[in-house]
Amino acid sequence: MDYKKLFIDGKWVNSSSDTFIEVTNPADNSFIAHVPSANINDLNFAISSADKAFATWSGLSLTDRLDYLDSLLHELTKFSQELTSVIVKELGCPVSFSYESQVISSIDEFSSLLDFAKKIDFEKRYDGYTLRREPFGIVACICPWNYPLYQLVLKVIPALICGNTVILKPASITPMSAFYFAEAVRLANLPKGVFNLITGSGSLIGKRMAEHEKIDMVSFTGSTAVGKDIIIHSASTVKKVSLELGGKSPCLVLENADYSLAVDTVLDSCFLNSGQTCSAFTRMYVPISSKEKILDLIRDRIDKYVSGNPLDPNFKLGSMSSLEQSKIVRSYVNSALSEGAKMITCKSNDFSLSDTFINPCVLFDVSDDMEIAKAEIFGPVLSVITYDDLEYAIKKCNDSPYGLSSCIFGDETEALSIAKKLKAGNVHINASPFITGAPFGGYKQSGLGREGGELGILEFTEVKAIFH
Ligand code: NAP
Ligand code: MG
Repeated sequence: MDYKKLFIDGKWVNSSSDTFIEVTNPADNSFIAHVPSANINDLNFAISSADKAFATWSGLSLTDRLDYLDSLLHELTKFSQELTSVIVKELGCPVSFSYESQVISSIDEFSSLLDFAKKIDFEKRYDGYTLRREPFGIVACICPWNYPLYQLVLKVIPALICGNTVILKPASITPMSAFYFAEAVRLANLPKGVFNLITGSGSLIGKRMAEHEKIDMVSFTGSTAVGKDIIIHSASTVKKVSLELGGKSPCLVLENADYSLAVDTVLDSCFLNSGQTCSAFTRMYVPISSKEKILDLIRDRIDKYVSGNPLDPNFKLGSMSSLEQSKIVRSYVNSALSEGAKMITCKSNDFSLSDTFINPCVLFDVSDDMEIAKAEIFGPVLSVITYDDLEYAIKKCNDSPYGLSSCIFGDETEALSIAKKLKAGNVHINASPFITGAPFGGYKQSGLGREGGELGILEFTEVKAIFH
């Protein structure tokens, strides 16, 4: 694989910029590759190629497009080992996690999107009119670094299903899996220009994508701060914007809950991918009377989650995605400790470890007004907060600018009635897992729109009513 090229107009091409982004392994700081730091000329080339391809691609029948995407899925699946290995290197995550939760789950998601597409009526007759779902045109997909392959699949595949053409910009620290995706596009013989890959800086390429009059939709996953920037930069062209942003998802434990189940579920969620998961449960509200019981369960279990060499199967967590990210996490935790929070961490009793390695930690005696209870930390850090009044705890769960996910543990009838009060795109009751195809996305500043399944596909369509 020649990582020094961009994929535009159906082939690997040189960037017209002479600059490159150095991609490194956060676990040992070793060099992985140089990828182009594309400039605006490269973006313009990708836009003209996506523009030329649009008429043909959108003019194909859905069945023909799905046939191409089936071939793409087949070619991508053949790269499973390569994808597993590059994601381990660029993200610093453990091999088994990379294989199962980054690669296989992306392939399953891809396959499920194709199945959903077959069941959607893109044209439906109503009384007096026909409703058509039509592609927007050119869709810019801008992805984050935490689930590099999964995020691109959730955007690029629905966009293509609906007949749009695509320009993908992966995160600069984890661009590698996008190269295998583009190579799979080439091997599957998708018509030229239908899919284009541009690597480059978000503040240059991403910003210009949002502004550009020829780009019809931006599908973005990343931080709330950049999401707001995208809204601002896309305003002059009033383009469609879909956003999957940050979270600070609460877990509400009722007095009558199965505490072991609650603790196991929340630790698994909070520490997954070293805490770098937008939907992670990071605030745990527990009845004050059960605080000690729940902290003891946490103490019993936390050693399962020690961080270490991503290539050593004994470790469930690898390194943080970058030195910058681990410094941010340390600083949040140190401030909370200085404000009086207490910490439970792994056997070694060493939270900081070194450089990019951080052991998971649980903070208790946390109050609602501490920064640790409010900010999205994006590291393996859980805040345990006690309550003695359930209505107050429900209010606190909602008292956040975010509203991505949430969970409730306790009597199912009671939990169901509380679920209706939570302002979050997803509510999980008693460890019920997320089901592929269900919509994912957030209330409030966690985003606009939904991804996955039928709703996630239809997000990439314009709606037309023809009266006849
Ligand atoms: P980020 O800094 O917002 O970057 C995301 C992407 O946007 C990257 O490709 C980045 O490019 C690009 N970008 C940066 N500045 C831009 C600008 N001004 N205009 C357009 N694009 C720009 O986010 P991140 O640090 O990669 O990811 C972490 C965040 O993503 C967390 O807040 C997390 O909650 C959120 N997230 C949300 C979901 C969800 O589904 N809701 C899923 C995963 C992550 P560069 O890499 O070149 O800077
Ligand atoms: Mg960033």
